[in-house]
Amino acid sequence: MIDFSQYDETKPLEMHNLQFDIAVEHLEVEDWILDKIKTPRREFSVRFPLRFDDGHTVLLSGYRVQHNTLRGPAKGGIRYHPQVDLDEVRALAGWMTWKCAVVDIPFGGGKGGVTCDPATMSSAELERLTRRYIWEISPIIGPEKDIPAPDVNTNPQVMAWIVDTYSVFKGYTCNSVVTGKPPAIGGSAGRLKATSRGCVYVLEEAAREMGLDLNSARAVVQGFGNVGYHAAELLHEMGVKVVAVSDVDGGVFNPAGLDPAAVQAHVAGGGSLPEYPQGEALTNAELLELDCEVLVPAALEGQINLANADNIKAQVVVEGANGPTSPQADQIFYDKGIFVVPDILANAGGVTVSYFEWVQNLQKLFWTESDVNQQLKHIMAKAFGEVFAIHQKEKVNMRTAAYMLAIGRVAEAKQLRGVFP
Ligand code: NAD
Repeated sequence: MIDFSQYDETKPLEMHNLQFDIAVEHLEVEDWILDKIKTPRREFSVRFPLRFDDGHTVLLSGYRVQHNTLRGPAKGGIRYHPQVDLDEVRALAGWMTWKCAVVDIPFGGGKGGVTCDPATMSSAELERLTRRYIWEISPIIGPEKDIPAPDVNTNPQVMAWIVDTYSVFKGYTCNSVVTGKPPAIGGSAGRLKATSRGCVYVLEEAAREMGLDLNSARAVVQGFGNVGYHAAELLHEMGVKVVAVSDVDGGVFNPAGLDPAAVQAHVAGGGSLPEYPQGEALTNAELLELDCEVLVPAALEGQINLANADNIKAQVVVEGANGPTSPQADQIFYDKGIFVVPDILANAGGVTVSYFEWVQNLQKLFWTESDVNQQLKHIMAKAFGEVFAIHQKEKVNMRTAAYMLAIGRVAEAKQLRGVFP
């Protein structure tokens, strides 16, 4: 039996390791393979100077971790955030390995990050930061080696600077080095909303299994960035009442339902989200505990833990964010009958369409958005079905089922590839 008290639920890497350790209790895999695939294959730390617009210069720390490359090149986003450190990047890279394996796409897992505060930086500063960071990690990235993508505080414009910097470095235009680019330079139709669309597809699968009628459901979304905003918008479009949304400043609640596009227009116009006039302000902590059927955490890790899990009222939690729920909170949810669609399944739509983007770039082809969405739906529904079958057969929660599927696939790759030399 695993002693949960040995793992700190506030630390992403310890969450990742505990999730892995729980799953391997149900698997028969040789110990050396488990040791090999639990920890990162390669870690790269860089220190580089950034000159600010006012002329002062600071030294920044950045990381790129390639957790696993057994099933294909490393794949994973780049995060700019004050909390970024090597352990967080290790955890996020590990989650990418399991995510790509759950949806069975030919990638390993990687992640990158720079410890910085983009909220206080100008666009020119962000561009210089991006170009220098990419130059620093350029020896280990590339279309066949490691392919970055957007994550917290990085977006299609940042990806465009990455294409340009890497292309200058190589001496020719190479857009397959990164995904999540603007369509004008090789981005895929459907990529911007893909993570959120994937969340909606697995929510539909979960609702069907649970007998939950989404037409009369209320949803709460934490985080109003790429994943959270588009999830709220897609839920609203399909008739789910989005009763609350939030960002780093706090949330807004309206039991009659919010129009996410109107909230977005208010924020884009310089308003603070909690001050949106057609609703009542609330804190992020209050938002998570609202009465609702569907909860979509789409901000940062560690939001749902021993302190609040017992107060969560949703029937289904669809993890748009990576690592929002601690394994300790998972146990409480399992006992209470709250159905969790875990991050490595729920938000895999982003990396799945990133895979489509990479394939299109390599083949110099463009797919239509309806082709992209159809293929995405197929992959998400298949992965959900496979995880759900393990969840039922093995009587484990959905997260452990997803890890069992993913670890099994990565372990099989190691077994087949063998040991060099
Ligand atoms: P983003 O930077 O576009 O948005 C992040 C949002 O979270 C912002 O609205 C921000 O204000 C809010 N936020 C930040 N700290 C918060 C806090 N303490 N409480 C509440 N809200 C807070 O980032 P994103 O790309 O939407 O990523 C969100 C999550 O989804 C992350 O966990 C990321 O790893 C995960 N994810 C993103 C993608 C993708 O394609 N972008 C794919 C898979 C998973």
